[in-house]
Amino acid sequence: MGLFDRKICDICGGKCGLLGGKKVKDGRLCSDCAKKQSPYLPGRKNFTVEEMKQHLADRERNQEMINRFAPTRTIGQNLKLYIDDGSGAWFITSARRYQDANPDIFQADQVLGARVDVDRTEHERVVQEAVPAADGKPGKPEITKKVIEYDFYVNIDVTHPWVNQMHLQVNRSTIESSTGPDYREAERDAKDIVAALLAMQEGAVRATMPKQRVVCPNCGATTMPDENHCCEYCMGSLG
Ligand SMILES: [Zn+2]
Ligand SMILES: [Zn+2]
Repeated sequence: MGLFDRKICDICGGKCGLLGGKKVKDGRLCSDCAKKQSPYLPGRKNFTVEEMKQHLADRERNQEMINRFAPTRTIGQNLKLYIDDGSGAWFITSARRYQDANPDIFQADQVLGARVDVDRTEHERVVQEAVPAADGKPGKPEITKKVIEYDFYVNIDVTHPWVNQMHLQVNRSTIESSTGPDYREAERDAKDIVAALLAMQEGAVRATMPKQRVVCPNCGATTMPDENHCCEYCMGSLG
């Protein structure tokens, strides 16, 4: 094997790029295979070739689900949360054509937490360049202005075979004023997305909460409330 022979992709058998492809724990992927992985996969190098094969098979199934996905509502302008209230499925992306991005689909009960994160950076911007003294005229000093820039993010923790955490920018481009409409829109979108995720999580938790046995005040039996919250034995209301 010559020094400049292309390495072979351990997934598809195709040729890797000149730089030797994308490394995983015990092998390598070509860029076409690497492109198919989830954007939220934590560190490709943590996974083996076998795990990556499984991951890419899961990604293909996700793509089929994405193509069929029929959202009942969306939240956000740039970063968008897509929800199918019928099935409790959701995904989040800022891609205009989400079918191309193949964002991972989650269920309501896979949400572990969500919060807004505002990134505030302060820096000096030159508003007028310095002019050196010349021809007997005095120079002018550089004039700078302090600017503060804002980016809104949502951090989402999930339980999922391949994804733990997503850190997603809400606003399309950096916001330069905390009093303008861009700031208000990004803040509102971030809060709405987080609130929707937490509401889904809460709904899913309530649905899976085990029913508790109670003592019936009417007949004294220890009973499991039926769907009308009545006693199984005497049909009396359990209050
Ligand atoms: Zn490949
Ligand atoms: Zn009873």
